[in-house]
Amino acid sequence: MLTLTHSQAAFKDAQSLMPGGVNSPVRSYGRVRCTPPFIASAKGSSITDIDGNTYIDYVGSWGPMIAGHAHPRVVKALQEAAARGTSYGAPTLLESEIARLIKSIYPSIEKLRMVNSGTEATMSALRVARGFTGRDKIIKFQGCYHGHADSLLVSAGSGAATFGQPDSPGVPAATAADTITLPYNDSKSFNRIMDGFGNDIAAVIVEPVAGNMGLVLPEESFLQALRSQTQAHGAILIFDEVMCGFRTALHGAQAYYGITPDMTCLGKIIGGGLPAAAYGGKAYLMDCVSPAGPIYQAGTLSGNPLAMTAGIETLRIITEDPSYTVRVTAHTTTLTEGLRQKAAEAGVAVCVHQSGSMFSLFFTDKDVKNFADSSAADQDAFAVYFQSMLEQGIYLPPSQFETCFVSGAHTDDDIRRTIEAAGTAFAAVA
Ligand code: PLP
Repeated sequence: MLTLTHSQAAFKDAQSLMPGGVNSPVRSYGRVRCTPPFIASAKGSSITDIDGNTYIDYVGSWGPMIAGHAHPRVVKALQEAAARGTSYGAPTLLESEIARLIKSIYPSIEKLRMVNSGTEATMSALRVARGFTGRDKIIKFQGCYHGHADSLLVSAGSGAATFGQPDSPGVPAATAADTITLPYNDSKSFNRIMDGFGNDIAAVIVEPVAGNMGLVLPEESFLQALRSQTQAHGAILIFDEVMCGFRTALHGAQAYYGITPDMTCLGKIIGGGLPAAAYGGKAYLMDCVSPAGPIYQAGTLSGNPLAMTAGIETLRIITEDPSYTVRVTAHTTTLTEGLRQKAAEAGVAVCVHQSGSMFSLFFTDKDVKNFADSSAADQDAFAVYFQSMLEQGIYLPPSQFETCFVSGAHTDDDIRRTIEAAGTAFAAVA
């Protein structure tokens, strides 16, 4: 039996200090009906709570930790960087170095700007698209999450879906009215809107692999429709690869599916576990950003030397060895095949999706193609599965509207133990 005595006390105390006791809603474990373990430390593929329980971690800080926790190279680089000062608010060589690295991995990004969070990246990319086109309306897809900026907190996935708050109070009605939402993977609806109103659309923003309604894979014809319609109507196509970047494939979903967007948003991995994100794309768009152009965007801590250092070191780790991301994907495939097999043995219907080093599992006998499908999956079964996995030392995202992440630090033994634990968890669901 898992003991969470110290976490229970810490959570109670935190609830008196922060809304729901947390600084980001899904951390509260609201939908899976248990106490969130408070974390003391993490190393490699494992994470340890303040009660001394150690788990195999498939949250990976929600994606950034592709090299595993406290990677010795990242830690050493950070220690050295911290000794040189933590923030200058002035240009550094590190910023050019990470920009060059990102451009070399994502050739569609001709110029980019570093920011502090995925939210800032998508919000700023939209501003560029609106400023460049002189149009206000944007299209996003139901269940995609692009951070918590007003324009994008409409039919949103991730924690907003988990807590039944996809359209948050506080978003001005006029702002929400400029965001048209459509079902993911529904080229017909999309084509109809673009045929009717395409010349009013500033941007189409999409997770090219959707990770915030659980993991939902795009139909290739859907991504092709996004590209051809935006091109035809002079709208900006923004790929939000904050989550799937470097994971669907090293060069991202855009390389994997062979579709080149006008702009790309990146985050998570490029900060190596520190706050960093970026937006970038065609030079003629990015040269509209201040001070090169009139569209304003700025940040006190943007390009922070510690965040750049962690990001650079993480990007080096995953690029220096060309087989790095391929190996992590292969481990993920072993795991997803094992999950399917254990579910079949237990007689539990599941839909398991994988894209590179990401995976998720829905309790449903249907293929999950959009937010309606993922919302229809059995959330109570997910809670039982989740609790059983946690009891057995497997740390998963506490919501079916999230995605699991595998890192280069996960071992064969981690994968084997996780599959075994899933067998027990499926038996509890059956
Ligand atoms: N875009 C996507 C696809 C995301 O998954 C997220 C966060 O999970 C964001 C944007 C927002 O990033 P952040 O939480 O860093 O603001």
